[in-house]
Amino acid sequence: MTTETKTETRGFETEAKQLLHLMIHSLYSNKEIFLRELISNASDAADKLRFEALSKPELLSEDNPLEVRIEVDSENKTISISDNGIGMSRDEVITNLGTIAKSGTAQFLESLTGDQKKDSKLIGQFGVGFYSAFIVADEVEVLTRRAGTNADEATVWRSKGEAEYSIAPAEKAEVGTTITLHLKKDEAEFADQWRLRSIVKKYADHIAIPVLMEKQQAPGADDDAEEKDAATHEKEFEPVNDAKALWTRPRSDVKDEEYKEFYKYVSHDFEDPLQWSHNKVEGKLEYTSLLYIPARAPFDLWNRDAARGLKLYVQRVFIMDDAEQFLPLYLRFIKGVVDSNDISLNVSREILQKDPVVDSMRSALTKRALDMLEKLHKKDKAAYNKFWKQFGQVLKEGPGEDFANKDKIAGLLQFTTTASEGDEQDQSLADYVGRMQEGQKKIYYLTSESLKSARISPHLEIFRKKGIEVILMHDRIDEWLMSHLQEFDGKQFQDIARGELDLGDLEKEEEKEKKEESEKEFKALVERIKDQLKDRVKEVRLTHRLTDSPACLAIDDHDIGLQMRKIMEASGQALPETKPIFEINPDHPLVQRLDKEADEDRFADLVSVMFGQAELAEGGQLDDPGEFSAHLNKLLLQLTQ
Ligand code: ADP
Repeated sequence: MTTETKTETRGFETEAKQLLHLMIHSLYSNKEIFLRELISNASDAADKLRFEALSKPELLSEDNPLEVRIEVDSENKTISISDNGIGMSRDEVITNLGTIAKSGTAQFLESLTGDQKKDSKLIGQFGVGFYSAFIVADEVEVLTRRAGTNADEATVWRSKGEAEYSIAPAEKAEVGTTITLHLKKDEAEFADQWRLRSIVKKYADHIAIPVLMEKQQAPGADDDAEEKDAATHEKEFEPVNDAKALWTRPRSDVKDEEYKEFYKYVSHDFEDPLQWSHNKVEGKLEYTSLLYIPARAPFDLWNRDAARGLKLYVQRVFIMDDAEQFLPLYLRFIKGVVDSNDISLNVSREILQKDPVVDSMRSALTKRALDMLEKLHKKDKAAYNKFWKQFGQVLKEGPGEDFANKDKIAGLLQFTTTASEGDEQDQSLADYVGRMQEGQKKIYYLTSESLKSARISPHLEIFRKKGIEVILMHDRIDEWLMSHLQEFDGKQFQDIARGELDLGDLEKEEEKEKKEESEKEFKALVERIKDQLKDRVKEVRLTHRLTDSPACLAIDDHDIGLQMRKIMEASGQALPETKPIFEINPDHPLVQRLDKEADEDRFADLVSVMFGQAELAEGGQLDDPGEFSAHLNKLLLQLTQ
């Protein structure tokens, strides 16, 4: 049977097809990245072979050192990228190059907008990998032989990047993979040694194995030598990079550009990182870490199964991607590399989970990551705000997850407050504390469904009148966050919709006296309202937190708030019913009118409408809309009579 007869044509998986199409059309302004992606894959393949050779040393040989070769054929307009790494079996070729194994791919495709500019950013976050070859090539051939298999067990894969690919058995003398790109007519510029060399240099400098290209004659060099080369067809190759793992180099040697490129390599991100931190630790534990804060959240930040964690090396040998044991979940957006001298080379994920060395490293790396955020927060507020927009909600998981670093994390939180100019969460707790009034002992906050409903909350009235700043929390996680934060900088937090209002020293003596007086004056009214609302409320009482509204709802000190209730109910927990406290404003004309209302029917109408309004002002729903409308309509009819 000839090879030809065994050629099989297969269709791409639908998702791969969609992604291919999209990528080719949205990434053309950033074409040269195909080289970065293919060199990265080649280098990963070398890493994987080195790893496999830990248990099968025969897979590596001294006279065949791991390397990547890039060759250009300017006549036929092809580029080939060869590695002598792990290679792929036929089945691996089918799964790796015919499908997209990433979790959340369908979800990602759904999130696309059709706007090319926006989509190209998204696709950058998604990571295009191997398929980026089709940005410049109209045909791609992959010839590959898995390490540990024979020369006649190789596979060749070909595709024009449209709907299908072909796959056939092949022969390959060496283990590894050669990818040949047949350049599109318009992309022939890439089939130029010098042009390619400069791109390779840019993307290969941080790669830990040599990336070789054909040695070039300097212009005007010895013509005889050229003739001799041509005669023997013996090509000479030389490394274009310095082939040293970037994190092993001293910090002072590494340029910012190199750090940025390396980030793109480890994270598959297209954008530059916001910040990085490169450290070598010596002493009881020895390791090097290079941590990055990305500028943009990956599309699957909220996907529980999404890959996260650092790339783990042990004594410079690649061990695994996405080692999630080195950082807590709330720092899952951090990317980077950790290279340890204390972990055993044959470590597995299960062993990592139990290794005390990993625990110590995890605490140190967590601290390192938080320090890096602190530094960004102090030095570059604009960049920090950018970070916050992308990852703030994740960091808010921190105080609940990491007791030891609670205070440190609290210092990194940002919120919108009544003093914010716009809607951004750009005020830190330290900013707030710095603006506290004389006599103010607490940090006041309010949680609400949205910023809009927070801003119009009646609970703010007294604070506005007295010019006291209030933090307006409106992220879903905020109430949960606040259940883990009791104080900041020695100042307690106070939810202004919870419990009785106590402004402490911010309240004047005469205000306190007035309060006592009205307590007496309206005692009977409070009782009457209680009789009216019965078990719809936990309590009815006077309040002094209102200036404009007649009434509002408060929650009892230890009751579960609305946001928290929603989160818990969504996670399937049954919660006991909690009832609000109905608070009325003795200074409001409606309340005073109510006090004088002798007609019980009319009294019931007014109370019902006031209660309904208070429910709505909380951003909540009416607990009995029918009852509310009936009473309101009765009042309206009286108006028209
Ligand atoms: P990613 O690298 O993000 O996983 P790619 O689309 O770039 O995605 O590659 C898909 C898979 O194909 C890789 O995960 C790897 O298993 C395999 N692969 C790609 N290039 C090579 C190569 N040169 N050698 C061996 N395997 C490769």
